[in-house]
Amino acid sequence: MFGLMQDRPLMISSIIRHASRHHAQTEVVSKTIDGSIHRTNYAALEIRARRLVRVLQTLGIGRDDRVATLGWNGFRHLELYYGVSGMGAICHTINPRLGPKDIGFIIDDASDRVLFAETSFVALVEAIAPAIADTLRAVVFMCDAADMPQVSLPPGMAGLCYETLMAAADDEYAWPEFDERQAASLCYTSGTTGRPKGVLYSHRSTVLHAMAISAADVFGLRAVDRVLPVVPMFHVNAWGLPYAAPAAGSALIMPGRHLDGASLTQLMNDERVTMSAGVPTIWMGLLNYLRSSGQRLHSVRSLVIGGSACPRLLLDAFDREYGVRVDHAWGMSETSPLGTFNAPGQASAAYQGETLLRHREKQGRGIFGIDMKIVDDAGAALPWDGLAQGNLLVRGAWVASGYFGEAPGSACDADGWFATGDVATIDALGTMEITDRSKDVIKSGGEWISSIALENIAVGHPDVAEAAIVAASHEKWTERPVLVVVARDGCTIEVDSVLALYRDRVPSWWLPDAVIVVDELPHTATGKVHKLTLRMRYRDHLLRAKEISDLR
Ligand code: AMP
Repeated sequence: MFGLMQDRPLMISSIIRHASRHHAQTEVVSKTIDGSIHRTNYAALEIRARRLVRVLQTLGIGRDDRVATLGWNGFRHLELYYGVSGMGAICHTINPRLGPKDIGFIIDDASDRVLFAETSFVALVEAIAPAIADTLRAVVFMCDAADMPQVSLPPGMAGLCYETLMAAADDEYAWPEFDERQAASLCYTSGTTGRPKGVLYSHRSTVLHAMAISAADVFGLRAVDRVLPVVPMFHVNAWGLPYAAPAAGSALIMPGRHLDGASLTQLMNDERVTMSAGVPTIWMGLLNYLRSSGQRLHSVRSLVIGGSACPRLLLDAFDREYGVRVDHAWGMSETSPLGTFNAPGQASAAYQGETLLRHREKQGRGIFGIDMKIVDDAGAALPWDGLAQGNLLVRGAWVASGYFGEAPGSACDADGWFATGDVATIDALGTMEITDRSKDVIKSGGEWISSIALENIAVGHPDVAEAAIVAASHEKWTERPVLVVVARDGCTIEVDSVLALYRDRVPSWWLPDAVIVVDELPHTATGKVHKLTLRMRYRDHLLRAKEISDLR
C-alpha cells in the first residue's frame, strides 16, 4: 500500500518561487566587475529569471539544450541558474581558469548552444570562438548596453548584450513542472588527469542536496543568515549555496571576482556576512590580510573549508585570534559536492586542546543522504577504526551514476557505489579522514605514507607558505616522499627546522627524503596544487641525487 501523500516533483524553480513569496525582500548583493555594489531581492530576482526564460526562448533554447556560462558570482549568474534550469534547459558552468583548449573541448563535448560571458572574458571568448563556431550560435555578454565590449566573433555567431535582450523581453512565463529527474546543470571535473568529464545534476539531486546542506550540523542556514559564497559558481555550483540560501531565506552576498583578503574583509564587514565557504588558499589569504592589517571580522560565525585538506593553522588561528569557527567539509564534483561535514557529535563535543584539533582536521561524518565505506584493493570492506586506510566509496541521491554522454550507472558498481579516487580512514565515531588521492599516496616498501598528513605538518611551519609532498622513485623502497615548499614573503626556509616538525608527530620512516624550496607551486584551475606536474618534475629527484653522490 502506498502512502497517501502528494507526490510533487522536486523542481529548482520551486526554490526561487519559495524565496520570492516567503522571503521577498531578502537581499541579493553583488560586487560587480568594476567594484560597485548592486542590490536586488528574491522577489525581483524571480521576475528577472522569468524574463530571462523569455530571452532564452527567443534565442531558440528549449528543453535539454545546454547553455554555457563563463561568469563570476553575481546576480546575473544567479538569474541564469534559475532561468535556464527552471525552463528545463541545462546550465553548463565553465571554469574560466581552464586553458582555451580545454574550454573549447568542453563546449564542443556539451554541444552548448549559447554562451553567457562576463565582459572580463572577451579575450578568452575570442580565443575559443573559432574552434566552436559549429556548436555555438551566440555569445551574450552579462552587462548593460553601455558596457558592451568590442568583440570579434566568427561569421554566424552573434555577440549580444544581456540587458538589451532583457529590456526587450516580457516576464509572462509560468514555471513548468516536469519529471524531477530532468537534467538541470552540468559541470566538468577539472581534468587534472585526462580529459574533463561532465557531471550532470538533476532537479531532484539539486533540491535534495540543497535541503541536506542547510541542516543544523552542516551549513546550518537560517533566514537571518547572510551567506557569502566565495567558492565560484563554476566550481560545483558554488557547493549548492545558490540553491540552499534562497531555500532557507538567507541573504546572498556575491563577491564577483574580488577574492583577495582586503576585498573579502570589507565585503564581509559592510554586508554583515554570517557564513562563507571556500577553498583553503582563499582563507589563507584572508588570514594573512587580517594579521597584517589588524582588521577584524565583525559578523562572521562560520567559514566552511573544503576542496583541499584544511591545514590545522586555519582551524586554530581563526578560532583563537578572531573568534570565527572554521568548519571542515569534503566533497567532489561527482557528489554535488557535499559528502561529509565535521560538526561536533555526542562524544567529540567534549574534546579539548590537541585531541579537538586533531579531530577537527578530519573531513567529518557522512551527511544524511550519503552512505560511505572504505575498501582494500580487492574490494573488501575495511574496519572503522581510524587506522585502516582504504579506497573511499560513496553512494546517495546526489552522487553521480554516470558521466555526461555515458550510460546511467556506468560510473558505479552494481550496488551503486561510486569510487571517489580518495584514500581515507573512518574512525569509530564515523569521522572520515582523507589521507590521499589514490594516485598521490606514497608507497614506501609496501607501506602507505599519507601525503596530506605530511603537507599539513609542513604548512604549520611559520616560514612555509605552501607545501606539497610527492612520491619520488627510490632504488630500495620503490617510492619515498619529497617535500616541495614555498617560503612566506620575506622568510627563508631552514630545511632542518622543517624536518624537526615531523619528529614525534609521524613515524620516523615517513620523514621526507628531500626538501626542495621553490618560488611557486603549479595549481589547477580550481586552485589545488597540480600534483601531476610536480610528480613528473621530481619523480627522478632521489635517483639523480644518488647518481651524483655515487660519482663523487
Ligand atoms: P573536485 O571534484 O574538483 O571538487 O575535487 C574533488 C576532490 O578534492 C576530492 O576527491 C578530494 O580529493 C579533494 N577534496 C575535497 N575536499 C577535501 C578536503 N576537505 N580534504 C581533502 N581533500 C579534499
